[in-house]
Amino acid sequence: MRIDILTLFPEVFEGYFQASILERAQETDLLQIYTHQIREYTTDKHHVTDEPPYGGGSGMILKPEPIFRAVNAIAPDGVLENWPGDQENRGEQWQPPSRPPLILLTPQGKSFNQKMAGELALLPRLILLCGRYEGIDERVREHLVSAELSIGDYVLTGGELAAMVVVDAVARLIPGVLGAEDAAEQDSFATGLLEGPHYTRPATFGQWVVPDVLRSGHAARIARWRREQALRRTWQRRPELLLTVELSEEDKKFLAVLAEEQTAK
Ligand code: SAM
Repeated sequence: MRIDILTLFPEVFEGYFQASILERAQETDLLQIYTHQIREYTTDKHHVTDEPPYGGGSGMILKPEPIFRAVNAIAPDGVLENWPGDQENRGEQWQPPSRPPLILLTPQGKSFNQKMAGELALLPRLILLCGRYEGIDERVREHLVSAELSIGDYVLTGGELAAMVVVDAVARLIPGVLGAEDAAEQDSFATGLLEGPHYTRPATFGQWVVPDVLRSGHAARIARWRREQALRRTWQRRPELLLTVELSEEDKKFLAVLAEEQTAK
């Protein structure tokens, strides 16, 4: 997968993308990340990328021309008009779009989540646009970007951290990026639940002991225990997730036990 990032601060990506799993994904060519300095797409003598807002007010606004020029240069065939589509609505015949989506990182966008990360991971290419200062000229938003994503209800200084979050969450879902031992299928949200607890050596740490079942070697019992722990954790921390997840009869019985436990308290 190729990811292009448009930014005024390409240098901030260096450390994070050159470590651990993301570094390995690039070395094995499963992932190519290109950062593009928006300033290089200015044509004026002083390479101006931002100007004060019309109508007054504080802060600076990123100008539209360098951004349009940059996108035209790195995606000469254009970008998608909308989000590439929900995974559920993609039939067997689904082919990835030939044009990449251009995603603007903004606190005003849709909340980024694991489902969206999975949808983006199926694409051959993706372009991320990082805002700065007070944001970008509205004409970029209206006439160029395919979708807008937010990483949470708070305001960051720039879109770079948000772009890193999106790249990281998407990259680990590209087939082959995680080793089998790290497989993402049981991660929180991937199953629709939060993941249960993990333990490693030593089996006894002070007075705390790893649950016996995890050392039993009994795969089916371990799988059931993990499922129940995931249900319990989700019930305790994010009960609304249980409304949309697919539950087996066994799961429902376990949840009924949790409900009884609660009323007994
Ligand atoms: N004035 C803007 C507003 O109120 O919506 C906020 C601008 S913010 C200081 C500068 C840039 O940081 C934004 O253009 C956006 O690219 C990025 N940014 C800030 N918070 C973000 C968030 N929660 N998610 C994604 N991007 C964010």
